[in-house]
Amino acid sequence: MKQAFFLLLMASYGVSAQSLSKPETAVIATVKKQMPETEAFLEKVVNINSGTLNKEGVRQVGKLMSDEFDKLGFKTEWVTLPDSLNRAGHLVATRQGKKGKKLFLIGHLDTVFEKSLPMEPFTRVNDSTASGQGVADMKGGDVVVIAALKALHAQKLLDDTSITIYFTGDEESSGGAESRRDFIERAKKCDIALAFETAQGLSSVTTGRRGSSGWTLNVKARTGHSSRIFSDLGYGAIYEAVRILNEFRRTLGQEQYLTFNPA
Ligand SMILES: [Zn+2]
Repeated sequence: MKQAFFLLLMASYGVSAQSLSKPETAVIATVKKQMPETEAFLEKVVNINSGTLNKEGVRQVGKLMSDEFDKLGFKTEWVTLPDSLNRAGHLVATRQGKKGKKLFLIGHLDTVFEKSLPMEPFTRVNDSTASGQGVADMKGGDVVVIAALKALHAQKLLDDTSITIYFTGDEESSGGAESRRDFIERAKKCDIALAFETAQGLSSVTTGRRGSSGWTLNVKARTGHSSRIFSDLGYGAIYEAVRILNEFRRTLGQEQYLTFNPA
């Protein structure tokens, strides 16, 4: 997880030039031009410890990112949480407009590396890879958001758009439902959500994810002596449970991407 790829940005260079519109080409050129400052900013935020329980560190990283959104004309706020949750809170940046879909851009400020762990600072591995605590998960993704918005802003493409950026402070160790309430409320008001944590390797976008749910199967049957099964008592609860489970397998077993396990 510490190997880092802040270069989703780089991925866009791979797109064939002919397929891009003029503004898109300009945005990519801006991203490329601002790469040194983007990288410097990533280095700065990676070198601030922001383990989930290091609330001060999470807020410090949040402040630096918040300043960037301020410069781009976003309204920024810090969502505080009750002390009992022992979490830093969240950074929210918004802008309201009438153009296009309402976007919800998701990131998180915290990392799994608490202060008690040895510090591994930002280190350049080669020209497109760096390592360090939280580079990949996911300060790199946060910085991609900032760099992309900066480039869009430079081309005046943010004007009149509706964007909510939500960087939580407790993704790695959640403060629970109370900590997510505001996030869910705001997300519901948006049309499209984009999360910037690394997906399956570089240069890829994940467009769907499996959810998961748990089920309890309750089966009732008449009780009685085992010798009367299949006759007046019927088949009994175990056969009925097996019948239902087997029916799941029979009808859904070939469904792409679906897994289920009676255990
Ligand atoms: Zn993460």
